[in-house]
Amino acid sequence: MKALIYEGPRTMTLREVAPPHPDPGEVVVEVAYSGICGSELSGFMGQSSIRKPPLIFGHEFSGRIVDTGPGTTLAKGPRVTANPLISCGHCTFCRAGEEQLCANRRLLGATRAGSNAVYVAVPEDRVVLLPDALSFEQATLAEPIAYAVHVIEMLALKSEEVLAVIGMGPIGLFVLQVALHYGTTNVYVVDTNPERLAIAQVLGAAAALNPLHDNVAQVIADATGGLGAHAVVDAVGSTATRQSAVSLARSRGTVIFSGLHTAETRLPVNDMVRNEIVTRGAFAYHDDQFRRSVDLIAQGAVGLEDHWIVKAPLSEGGHWYEQLITNPGGIAKVLLAPR
Ligand SMILES: [Zn+2]
Ligand SMILES: [Zn+2]
Repeated sequence: MKALIYEGPRTMTLREVAPPHPDPGEVVVEVAYSGICGSELSGFMGQSSIRKPPLIFGHEFSGRIVDTGPGTTLAKGPRVTANPLISCGHCTFCRAGEEQLCANRRLLGATRAGSNAVYVAVPEDRVVLLPDALSFEQATLAEPIAYAVHVIEMLALKSEEVLAVIGMGPIGLFVLQVALHYGTTNVYVVDTNPERLAIAQVLGAAAALNPLHDNVAQVIADATGGLGAHAVVDAVGSTATRQSAVSLARSRGTVIFSGLHTAETRLPVNDMVRNEIVTRGAFAYHDDQFRRSVDLIAQGAVGLEDHWIVKAPLSEGGHWYEQLITNPGGIAKVLLAPR
């Protein structure tokens, strides 16, 4: 089969490789689309501790079951997506429904072969069947949307509380949409890319702020009687955005760190102590949040308009990883099509 292989920093090559064989309890999915995730961009640059060449990237995908391993209950044929996080199922965290914290978790496209290929194998208990009305394109968004569901359910904001989201890449855009769907109406978003701010505006942000010419802290202060945001989500993971996330939160406010670009960041911890700022990491999602995300997309509550999505052949994958790093412009998501 054709697969896009990560060969080393900034190098992706389309190659012919042996197709996956389903192990007991696994199915093989013929991939319709495989999304490029922001979390893979640092891997593409050679900065990820878990993505080592040669590797087939890709953990956001949709397609059709074409083969089943011994002991599976699913048949060949159905349209599906799958939760790419594979956990042990019996540790303390797995039993508590917090599979994302399983010490033995594996991730498609990182610690086993991913979906940037004609076929991908996945355990059948991770598979989610797609409703007929849900397109392969929108279904591919289930993974990043599940993450946004995890963040917003973790925050459990009251409807009148003010949320600020820094970074309008796919994660930030989905955090905005899920927050609005859960009833938080005052969502202020921040990015330096005017095209992505325009998308956020269409999706319903209370204000779309560009720190290059807006005084973000002042706008948030004005919206909150001078107190600051109840919660701030850093959807980038750089030093600058983590620091600004902390600075926008009110006393007792919560800051959620998501992106994984920079391993270590200096933060004003004395201010955080005095202001009793709550900081939390957020990683991946529970399996039920992944399934909920498919429902939200099927209901039309969350998703991306077609013209914000680029669909490209798998052979152009390397170019699009590069493009997303250097100039994403108005592209919210790139979907690679192996066929
Ligand atoms: Zn992803
Ligand atoms: Zn476990």
